[in-house]
Amino acid sequence: MTNPPPAPPVVRTKIVATIGPASREETAIHGLVEAGVDVFRLNMAHGSMDEHQETLDRIRRVGDALARPVGVLVDLAGPKIRLGELPGGAVDCVEGATIWFIRGTESDQADRFVTTYAPLVDELAAGDSVMLADGTISLVVEEKAPDAARCRVVQGGIVRSRQGVNLPGVKLSVAAMSQADWQHAEWAAAAGADFVSLSFVRSPVEVKLLKELLRTRGSQARVVAKIEKREAIDNLDAIVDAADAVMVARGDLGVETDVASMPMVQKRIIRACQRYQKPVIVATQMLDSMQHARRPTRAETTDVANAILDGCDACMLSGETAIGEHPRLVVEMMRRIARETEKQYLADRWRYMEGRFMAERGSAGVPVQEFLPAPEFLVDGLHPITQAVVDGASRIAGELDAKLFVVASRSGLTAIARSKRRGAVPTVGLSDNAATLRQMSLYWGVTPLANVASPDINQLLEHVSAWGLREGRLQRGDRILLVAGIGFGTGGHNMALVHEV
Ligand code: PGA
Ligand code: MN
Repeated sequence: MTNPPPAPPVVRTKIVATIGPASREETAIHGLVEAGVDVFRLNMAHGSMDEHQETLDRIRRVGDALARPVGVLVDLAGPKIRLGELPGGAVDCVEGATIWFIRGTESDQADRFVTTYAPLVDELAAGDSVMLADGTISLVVEEKAPDAARCRVVQGGIVRSRQGVNLPGVKLSVAAMSQADWQHAEWAAAAGADFVSLSFVRSPVEVKLLKELLRTRGSQARVVAKIEKREAIDNLDAIVDAADAVMVARGDLGVETDVASMPMVQKRIIRACQRYQKPVIVATQMLDSMQHARRPTRAETTDVANAILDGCDACMLSGETAIGEHPRLVVEMMRRIARETEKQYLADRWRYMEGRFMAERGSAGVPVQEFLPAPEFLVDGLHPITQAVVDGASRIAGELDAKLFVVASRSGLTAIARSKRRGAVPTVGLSDNAATLRQMSLYWGVTPLANVASPDINQLLEHVSAWGLREGRLQRGDRILLVAGIGFGTGGHNMALVHEV
């Protein structure tokens, strides 16, 4: 008998990579999936619809070629305000100087700015701050006139045409979705996107609106609420509850709120996602210096590790893979950090759980580290029987040192419940629905397995065992846990089964 191949390292934290000029060729996409990308983000703020369709087709071809369910996240720009054209393309805002925001779409004076948001002049008030160039330039509104707002430059710098305008704490009447957002959402539905995210979410109503739009177009896409405004922090629980998943969108969050408080805001958002059992992505500048450098900074590797310890499901790469010089290297680095972090995380967690079991059996157990609290709410739409069976089976898997935890799930909700338990036993997700499998690519610790959907439990176990042996993840005699319903998806998943390979 030949020895099984060495088991490939299981990395539980998922990687979302933004596609851009540096990564949109099919060979590049192929390389990124091989390196460990689980979900690709298509940023609707850039590129044409034809380009996005072409990229999506390429991702689907790569996923098919590698037999890997790969997720696609269509990211809607939402109500992002941008500057119009500046005379000469750029203006040096000197500290102490006066800048006017004026009505209209054009300006030929370097101290008169126009924006894409027509009512801006009406909605600004004296004392408001206006941030430009990713928060590096700040202005304060000193006086309102009927057709202009006069501002003083507090922190200077060079601003360029069409750069973003952030208005921390200013309540705007702008609609949650522009006409372009609607078009993009319609396209996402028609093209079979797996996730659609909405930028600058302020209230749960906006999330529900997008969900409804997608549902009525027959889309299964799950809606990701990007938390990047103060109003979203104020409505955090309701937004997390309404969304299917959440993104800590630190790029704008770090401008719209005090960047010094952002680390703790990140933790708050992740905890809310744990309470409501929603997958959560931490985004922006995770390995930023690797846009050019071949190695990350110490602070960056620490940031990725800490996001994982906070309890995020996925880490996102933006410029690093979209326009950076080393997209593949960045993904490999992120995966390595995740792997090293998870080793310790899971070892500590294991000792903690053992300690708890020992305590329950009458001996002392000391929690090694504070871990994510148990979720407070059911997964949206999940049958309480399923939740209880997943919880029980998770504990059985730990006690029996099972090598795989298998969930069969039509909607993927069971996989979320298992994922949010943060069990050390690797999880395999099965579904007879291809879109569900692709969505599982975002869920921490869940490996979606293509082409193994069968209504027959024994056949299912055979398939998974054969796959596990082939991949070196299982050996004869290993135990696996299976959670399923009798048949796929009818009522609750009422069965937990221990199988010896
Ligand atoms: P963006 O979103 O890259 O679309 O702005 C992420 C963020 O703001 O962090
Ligand atoms: Mn943003």
